[in-house]
Amino acid sequence: MNDRQSLTEFEIIRRYFSTILPPENDSCAVALGVGDDCALLAVPDAHQLAISIDTLVVDRHFPAAAKPADIARRAVAVSVSDLAAMGARPLAFTMALSLPEVDAEWLADFSAGLRQAAGYYQMPLVGGDTTRGPLTITLQVHGSVPSGQAMQRDGASAGDSIFVTGSLGDAAAALAMLQQRLPVVDPQQQCYLQQRFYAPEARVALAQRLRSVASAAIDVSDGLLADLGHLSRASGLAATIKSEQLPLSKVLQQLLAKEQAISYALSGGDDYELCFSAAPQYRARLASYASEFDLPITEIGSLAEGEGVICLDHSGRRLERGGSGYQHF
Ligand code: ADP
Ligand code: MG
Repeated sequence: MNDRQSLTEFEIIRRYFSTILPPENDSCAVALGVGDDCALLAVPDAHQLAISIDTLVVDRHFPAAAKPADIARRAVAVSVSDLAAMGARPLAFTMALSLPEVDAEWLADFSAGLRQAAGYYQMPLVGGDTTRGPLTITLQVHGSVPSGQAMQRDGASAGDSIFVTGSLGDAAAALAMLQQRLPVVDPQQQCYLQQRFYAPEARVALAQRLRSVASAAIDVSDGLLADLGHLSRASGLAATIKSEQLPLSKVLQQLLAKEQAISYALSGGDDYELCFSAAPQYRARLASYASEFDLPITEIGSLAEGEGVICLDHSGRRLERGGSGYQHF
């Protein structure tokens, strides 16, 4: 890279990314942030480092016309959701950014969204890489989890119940709306769906409680059938869920016929709710967490010896479904 370009690159970093939530207090894990060859993080005693990386590509994961702050908030939430799924707490993140051009207005708005989301999850930006290319945002999140207590996908036992947080299918409906496949005229419904797509909330705080209850967990990024399939396969079990018990938001029920709403809830991605297994004896404790966090926790089925995921309708008949989750290749 020649001087002129590298000056521009460093100016971008300094102006927009060097002070996204600077580490403030002594308890913070960040020993060294943006500016050196590496950042330095201290992992708390008796904890393990949890690491996850996600890439968002323009026109694949978000529309090109999306507001930069929305893209940034969504990128952070999607990444933090993986930490939540393990029961980890965010420590810090790094970001690789490819930009087609230097657009100061876009960068200012993107940086503002990033600052807001980083503040929300108390997760400083400690480094990254900035290059020219099609708009692509890669975030790597670093979290900590008490040693040996992470919620893995492979920990479920036969007889465990299957639970899911929040509601399912909203983000898929939002994407259909954004891509003009689903007409939504009511501004409140539009706003609700926009939120669910661009501002999913990683369930970090609840996940800290779930660690002592859940036998296995995953976040729903590719669709319930696909993600529950990962959990049940990793645990060597079969999952049976009931379509009648799937948590559907009011808006989804207003906008779609029941069958279609169920289909969105089963196969639509991007909801970033947690799906987890737990012994049925924990039902009452989970109900108390649901009221503490003001977030529905719904029992949708159970795990047994065998393999695969099946969904039963209200009369106990098996719903035949071809599609699983979103796959890139
Ligand atoms: P190097 O040549 O050592 O890879 P860079 O020139 O890529 O360093 O980056 C200089 C500093 O700026 C490093 O500390 C790096 O982590 C940080 N940085 C680069 N791009 C970003 C970004 N998009 N967000 C945050 N920090 C960044
Ligand atoms: Mg670099």
